[in-house]
Order: sequence, then structure tokens, then C-alpha cells
Amino acid sequence: MEFMAGRYGADQLSRFMLAVVIVCLVLNLFTRWRFPYVFSLVILGVCYYRMFSRNYAKRSEENRRYLEATQNIRGWFAKRKLRIEQSKDFHIYKCPSCGQKIRIPRGKGKICITCPKCRHEFEKKS
Ligand SMILES: [Zn+2]
Repeated sequence: MEFMAGRYGADQLSRFMLAVVIVCLVLNLFTRWRFPYVFSLVILGVCYYRMFSRNYAKRSEENRRYLEATQNIRGWFAKRKLRIEQSKDFHIYKCPSCGQKIRIPRGKGKICITCPKCRHEFEKKS
């Protein structure tokens, strides 16, 4: 605890780097390439350097740039995750007329859906 006092610690960027290290080490188990091993050591070194760094401003700026650069990818995954979570309670139907996606709660039997965009009506089992 005392050792970490005043040090930057872990952030999203270091968690991502650790994930890369784990992938590299797994690759290293199953292949004979030297590269993943060396690469993972380098990443791990940078990761530790960042966590033990006392330069908050610079480290958080790096993390901010990482978050900015990966915004779209993370958004894509977050969207997929949300959809999977919602798929327990909702069905997503596409309007046969205009293609608008419509979220319908599950377990309501046969229902008549009115598209909010084009007012087209169609029947579906929910
Ligand atoms: Zn429609």
C-alpha cells in the first residue's frame, strides 16, 4: 500500500496492455515464435513503468489518448454486449417495409407491431 502511495496505478490502458501480455503468453505456449514472448516482456515493462510512475498528468494523458483512439471499437463491443443482455427480455424485429429496427418485449404471444417510422403494421410472435 505504502509503496503505491503517490503512484499512478492501473487504468484502462494498463488493463488493455495486460490483456495483450496474456494473449502473447498464450501464443507463446502454442507456437515456437520468439516474438510474442519478447513483445509481452516489453509491454509488461511499459505497463509496470506506467503503474509505478509518479507523473499523473502524463499517464492520464496517455490513457485519455488510448480511450479516444479506441472509442469506436469499445462502443461497438458495448453495443453488442447490451444487445446480448437485452435479448433475454426483448426481441429485435426489422420492419419489413422500411427496415427500421424495433425492440419488442418477449413473452407477450402474437402481437401486432406498428412501425414507429413508417406506420406499417405487421404481426409477430414475441
Ligand atoms: Zn417501417
